[in-house]
Amino acid sequence: MWPIIGQPRALAWIERSLKEGRLPHAHLFTGPPHVGKTTLALTLSQAVNCESDDPPCGKCPSCLHIARGIHPDVVLLSTEDTGLSTEENGGSKRSIGIKRIMEIQHLAHLKPYQGRWRVFIIQGAELLTGDAANCLLKTLEEPPPNVLFILLTAQEDRLPSTVVSRCQRVEMRPTSTETVRDFLVQGRSLSSEHAETLARQCLGRTGLAVMAVDNHPEWQQRQETISALASLIEANRDKQLATASGWAEQFGKAPETTKDTLTLWRSWWRDLLLIKGGCPPLVTHQDWEGQTIKQAQQYTLGEIVSFIHSIGNAIQQLDQNANPRLVLEVLMLGLPQGMR
Ligand SMILES: [Zn+2]
Repeated sequence: MWPIIGQPRALAWIERSLKEGRLPHAHLFTGPPHVGKTTLALTLSQAVNCESDDPPCGKCPSCLHIARGIHPDVVLLSTEDTGLSTEENGGSKRSIGIKRIMEIQHLAHLKPYQGRWRVFIIQGAELLTGDAANCLLKTLEEPPPNVLFILLTAQEDRLPSTVVSRCQRVEMRPTSTETVRDFLVQGRSLSSEHAETLARQCLGRTGLAVMAVDNHPEWQQRQETISALASLIEANRDKQLATASGWAEQFGKAPETTKDTLTLWRSWWRDLLLIKGGCPPLVTHQDWEGQTIKQAQQYTLGEIVSFIHSIGNAIQQLDQNANPRLVLEVLMLGLPQGMR
C-alpha cells in the first residue's frame, strides 16, 4: 500500500516499473514545493527494501527504519542540512558541493549494509554546483549495481541537461482540493468544513496541508506572507518598490521562495476575481474574507484579470532568467490603482 495522496500517474509508472523489474537506477522527481516528492522518494526506498510480500508494507523493520530516517542504506541529503549552505562558493548561496557528492559516491560503491538497495535521495538537486553535478554524472553514467539515485527538484530548468537526461523523469503535480480535503478528514480527523478551508489554502499540495494541521513554523510563515501580500496592495509606491527589491534579492539566494510568494499572490488576486464574479464559495483564502471582499470592490474586473496575467508573466520571465529586479519592479509599477 503506497501512502501517497493523489499523484496517480507518478504512482502508476513506479508501480509498473517495480512489477516488471525494470526500475531505472536514477530518477528525477519534479514538482512544486510540498507536493510530496520526498514522501514518494522515501516510499520508493521502502518498496525496494521491504521485507514483506506486499511492499511497501510500512510495518517491517526495514520500512520502519526508513520512515524514522535510521536505515543505513537510505541516505537523504536534505536541504535543511546545514552543511549545504556553506560550501565552495563562500556561503553566500546555498549549494550542494562536490565534497558531499564524493561522499555519496564512496558509499554507493559499498554493498548494501542491511537492505537490498542503497538509495540516495537528493533534495533540492538544482543546488548542485557545476563540479558536483559533473561528479554525480560519472556515477549516473556507470551506476554500481543495486544503487538507486532519486533527485528531487522544484526547478528542473536549473539542472544541467546532462544530469536530467540520465534520469527517469517523474512529474508530480498539485492534487485536487477534494483529494486533499478527504485526506484531512480521513487521515487527520478534521471536520469537513475545516478540511475544505485548509485544502483550498494549500493549492493542492499535500505536504502543506500536513504543515497546516501541525501548525508547522513554515505554515505560520506562509500565513504571515499572505498578510503582507494583502497589505502590499494597499501600501504606497515606495513600500511596493522596496518589496520588489527585497524579492529580487531573495530570488538570488532562494528563487523558489520568491516564485512561491508570487504564486501565493496570484491566488489572492484570483480570490478577488471570484468575489467580483459572484463565486465567493470557491475562494482560496477564506480566512481573509473581510479583506478580499473590500479589495474586490476597489478594482474593476478588467484590472483584476490583467494583474493576474501580469503575475503569471513575471513568473515566466523569472524562469527564463530575465533580470529579477527589473521584472519585479515592472510588476509592482503595474499594480492597478483601483478607486483610490
Ligand atoms: Zn516493509
